[in-house]
Amino acid sequence: TSAAPVLSLSDVTKEFGPETALDGVSLDVEPGELLTFLGPSGCGKTTTLRTIAGLEEPTEGRITLGGETVSGDGAFVPPERRDVGIVFQNFALFPHLTVRENIAFGLSDADEAATAARVDELLDLVDLPEHGEKTPDQLSGGQKQRVALARSLAPEPDVLLLDEPFSNLDVRLRVEMREEVRQILKEAGVTAVSVTHDQEEALSISDRVAVMNDGQIEQVGRPESVFERPESKFVASFLGRASFLEGKLRDGKVETGIGRFDAVTLEGYDTVYDGAPVDVLVRPDDLRATPASPELADGVIVSRQYVGPSFVYRVELESGDTVHCLHNHVEEFGLDESVTLELTADHPLAWY
Ligand code: ADP
Ligand code: MG
Repeated sequence: TSAAPVLSLSDVTKEFGPETALDGVSLDVEPGELLTFLGPSGCGKTTTLRTIAGLEEPTEGRITLGGETVSGDGAFVPPERRDVGIVFQNFALFPHLTVRENIAFGLSDADEAATAARVDELLDLVDLPEHGEKTPDQLSGGQKQRVALARSLAPEPDVLLLDEPFSNLDVRLRVEMREEVRQILKEAGVTAVSVTHDQEEALSISDRVAVMNDGQIEQVGRPESVFERPESKFVASFLGRASFLEGKLRDGKVETGIGRFDAVTLEGYDTVYDGAPVDVLVRPDDLRATPASPELADGVIVSRQYVGPSFVYRVELESGDTVHCLHNHVEEFGLDESVTLELTADHPLAWY
């Protein structure tokens, strides 16, 4: 088994008046892990971070940091006495302090030489050794983010919290910084919890992703497993584009308007009767469209979108459902064109 969790949430609930922001959240975070809470706006991500930091007190449940109960069971350790670092969305650097002074801010100034040595270490870690004497206004967005990271890492927190850390950067820089931030966190060996509503960001930077919906964790796992084995329709649709085909279970297979397949059926398949209705998950790259005469077609192209080297087509089926279908640009279809669809996924997932 692995080492004791650095951070543990058990059944954490947070109510704001009649509003339940967190509804029984339980999770252990392992040493050195980068875990991301992913979910839509309002699902409780920021509240989760604030309760970990001690900026909110849970209505119920318990939080432990390094084995010590910091919230719950009658205990409440205030934020300044928790070994938790926070990287804010807007970086919150002090504009009149230099980069060095910003980084040194959270360190006790008892020993000047030790502080200077620690700041040098952090400037190296975030790859800004030549920028120590600059002020924040002389830095690019990516450099500011690295200073903010260095400042919160300086006191060696047990856990580093990052709230939507890339939202203040432009799209191109965001993708670049994801890789850099992950590398810095791994090099520092810190345990980190970040939150985002951006599925691509969560999948690309995290060791594990906790998908949240309406104050609850829907699924936790490695990025590949939550993407490839979503346990609910919510997780399937939140992680990437998903369409659902109506189907029926028949002799251990799933029958749909576009064919019969072996499918992985979820939620108690054994108890399900022959003919039970299911929803089959199809991702755009699970479908292949071929031109067809209207009589033989499965559906009609109702919209198309160029996304870099490919097109995403929306196909309306006879049932009235629509599905998305991704195609390489050489195979172009026009609007209103009739197509047959073939499902190329080996074992699509089906829910009922
Ligand atoms: P997210 O960060 O995922 O967007 P939040 O944690 O900010 O979500 O909010 C979760 C829910 O709790 C929302 O419905 C929000 O309106 C509510 N909420 C958050 N903070 C407060 C507060 N201080 N007072 C009242 N309601 C709040
Ligand atoms: Mg938020």
